[in-house]
Parts: sequence; C-alpha cells; structure tokens
Amino acid sequence: MKQKINVFWFRRDLRLEDNAGLFHALSSGLPVLPVFIFDREILDRLEVKADKRVSFIYNALVSLQEKLIHAGSFLLAEHNYPEMFFQNLVKKYSIDTVFANHDYEPYARERDKKINTLLSKNNIEFKTYKDQVIFEKDEVIKIDGGFYTVYTPYSRKWTERFNEADLKAFKSEKLLSNFIKHEPVKLPSLASMKFEETKTVPVDVTFNRSLISSYDKTRNFPAVKGTSQLGIHLRFGTISIRQLVDKARRWNQIFLKELIWREFFMQILWHQPGVINSCFKPEYNNIEWRNNEKEFEAWCRGETGYPIVDAGMRQLNATGFMHNRVRMITASFLVKHLLVDWRWGEAYFAEKLLDYELSSNNGNWQWVAGCGCDAAPYFRIFNPDTQTKKFDSEEKYIIEWVPEYKSSDYPFPIVQHQFARERCLSAYKKALSQKSPKPIQTNLFDDR
Ligand code: FAD
Repeated sequence: MKQKINVFWFRRDLRLEDNAGLFHALSSGLPVLPVFIFDREILDRLEVKADKRVSFIYNALVSLQEKLIHAGSFLLAEHNYPEMFFQNLVKKYSIDTVFANHDYEPYARERDKKINTLLSKNNIEFKTYKDQVIFEKDEVIKIDGGFYTVYTPYSRKWTERFNEADLKAFKSEKLLSNFIKHEPVKLPSLASMKFEETKTVPVDVTFNRSLISSYDKTRNFPAVKGTSQLGIHLRFGTISIRQLVDKARRWNQIFLKELIWREFFMQILWHQPGVINSCFKPEYNNIEWRNNEKEFEAWCRGETGYPIVDAGMRQLNATGFMHNRVRMITASFLVKHLLVDWRWGEAYFAEKLLDYELSSNNGNWQWVAGCGCDAAPYFRIFNPDTQTKKFDSEEKYIIEWVPEYKSSDYPFPIVQHQFARERCLSAYKKALSQKSPKPIQTNLFDDR
C-alpha cells in the first residue's frame, strides 16, 4: 500500500516563512508534498511572452526549490491545467488532505470549487486558510451585517479589530523537516512554457526601515524613492502581510493606512465581484465615452504632450512600475481629459504593472473615474500642470522619463485642459441626469 501523504499547493504565497496554510500542512503529522501549477488557463492567455511577472514567479520558485532541496525535499511544479494536474496527482499518490491558502479573485474561487469537487470525489479533504490579508471576507463588517463601501469607517473598524486581535506568526519555517523526502527534480523551463527570461525585480525582500519611517513625508514625490515598492511581493506572497503590518504599525501609521486600502478593495471585490465589469455606482454606466483609439494609443506610448502624464506612462512601459501619484494623474487624464472608458486603462495597467492586483487596480481606476466606492467626486479633475508644480516642482521626474519635453520633438498637447474639463463635466452630467435630475455642484476640490 502507498504511504499516505498530504499536499501543500503554493499559489500566491511563494515563501516558506510565516505561511498559514503551509504551517497547518506541516503540522499535520503526514509527510507533505509541495506543489505548484504554472496554470495554463492564465499563462496561455498572456500575449507578451517576455513577462516580468512570470519571470518573477519563476525566480521565486527557483529560490523555493533551493530551500526545499536543502531540506531534503523537492518542489513538484508542472505547466498544466489545475484539474488535470490533480487528476494525475490523485492517481500517483495516496493523499489525505490538500492544503492551500485562500484566494479571493473570481477566477480563483471558481477554480477552487472545481478542485474541491474533484478531491472530495476521491475522498480527499481540501483545507484552505487565510494568509494574504489580516482580515478577509466578513471579518470587518458593519453592525447591521452589511459590508463597508466607504474607506474611513472601514479603516476605523479594521484598526479596532486589529488592536483586539493576536497577530500570531505561523512558524512554517521551523517545520521544514516534515516535507516529503525525495531526490531533487528540475522545474519546467520558461522556454518550455513559451516564455522568455526577462529582467525583473529581485525576489529577496528587505524591509527598509528608514524609508517606511519617513513614508508620510516622501510618498507623494515621484522623483524620490519614497515608497516601498513592495506591491509585487504582496501580490505573489514573497512577504508575509503579518510581518509587514507588524512593522508598519510600529514605523509609520500612514503606511499602515495604505495596507488597509489594499484590504478595503479586496473585500469590495469579494462582496461585489460585479465591479469587474460594471461601475460600482451603476448610474455611471451611462457615460458616453469617446474611446478614440488613436488618443488611447498616444496615452499608452506616453505621447500626449502633457509631460507628467507621459513620464508616468513611459516609466510604466519601461519598468512595470509607476508611482502612485502619477498613477492617479495618468488615469484621470485618460478618463476625464480624453473620455476613454476606465476599463481600457484598467486593462492596460493590468498588462503592464508588476504589482497588478485585480481588486486594487479595479478599485483605484473606479476611484479615479468617480464611479467607484468612496470615489473622488467626478468633478474633481486633476490639472496635470498644477500636479506637476505640487509634486515634481523641479521637474526631475519629468526630465528622467521625457528628456526631450522642451524640444521641438515633443508633441503638442493632445487636448487643451480647460476644453477637456468642460467636455468631461458635461458628459458626466448628462449621464447622471438620466438617473438623478438634481443639479450637481461642480466648483469644489478641482485639485487636491
Ligand atoms: P507603497 O506606497 O509603499 O504602499 C505599500 C502597499 O500598500 C502597496 O504595495 C499596496 O499593496 C498598498 N497600497 C498602497 N496604496 C494603495 C491603494 N491606493 N490601493 C490599494 N492598495 C494600496 N496597487 C496594486 O497593488 N496593484 C494595482 O494593480 C494597482 N493599480 C492601481 C491603479 C491606479 C489607477 C491607481 C491610482 C493605483 C493603483 N494601485 C495599485 C495602488 C497604488 O498605486 C500602488 O499600490 C502603489 O503605487 C504600489 O507601490 P508601492 O508598493 O511602492 O506602494
């Protein structure tokens, strides 16, 4: 008879340290087989084969593999469809339980439902744990049982709950001897999955205490390295949110608030997955977008004639990162100045951002467009020149990414600001008047 084992399925939690599901697997009393699936459902759809995120995941797995070999084990990684992978696995091994961490996105929920059905037909349990957030699902809700759609009260309740909670670490790293013993096995190569190896950010994380401590003073200035750039690590779980929040709590409250924004948008997506296609405030679905393809392409290339917008888009295209302040400016410009549907911009960011996260990307695009939960009022239209004066007054960021901006090679502005502003206000008013005939105040907070 085959020896009974348990399985731990790595997904977006690519680390051995403080990993909740892994801790439970390794405490289970049976040897644990660690597995990873290069999911063909996702990867086969990626058109760009030199994807920095795929290379990042790959490097994270190489690092995991080395640590597992050091522990006398191996990582079973396959390029496959999840259902097919598990159909083969249950034939090969006698499995008691498959352990994993919760994954909240609609595709992942659907996938896990199918895997659960497949496993239970084979009398195998599927146990999943909260790992990528401090609070999930219904853990931070209103007294009446509804979910929060406004950030400030959510954040207040989150903090209350956090102060009461015991932020326990899951010391999975102390249990590595409980992995199944096996000869090393190679990972499938990137080329065999039709991907190219691409320069990407390092997998190892350093918590920069001085940066995080001064975050509130530096975070708004794109020419300064004043934000953590930890987004990609949170996305793929190469850091533990519990460790990060513990540091944020002690080092900088404003930084902690940003991590709460992340959980705020995650719970919105969990409670209202319809936001993927529709405005959170449905009356905004009536906006008649211009959707001019040539203008959209100029925006994508960073050739709008607005230096701060172009600098942001060029930073994104070249590095996969864009500073948050500039994300707000570029997104607002696309939606409000050019009247391009926010979903077009959302999709472009999704393709390019190293730290792409469905809930945060969707939530922030809707926030900028004015159609999301707790969004900026639609009549707040960023003026790119005023934003530059406030946040890049010496134009260092612009000079870095658009060195030719003062020369005759640089394009004229694609649209005049005042004209675009009026056009946007009337398009929004028209859309909203179909539902709400009330006059709308338009003279507040044009710039923040
Ligand atoms: P830091 O400023 O160091 O913040 C630390 C962490 O807090 C971030 O890594 C992130 O996890 C979280 N965080 C910070 N700001 C926000 C925010 N506004 N909303 C949600 N979480 C936040 N963030 C993503 O993680 N993925 C996205 O796909 C994404 N798309 C965005 C699209 C638009 C149009 C805008 C305006 C913002 C978007 N953001 C997104 C939020 C924010 O810009 C990034 O989280 C931040 O710039 C990442 O850089 P950092 O890691 O240095 O962040």
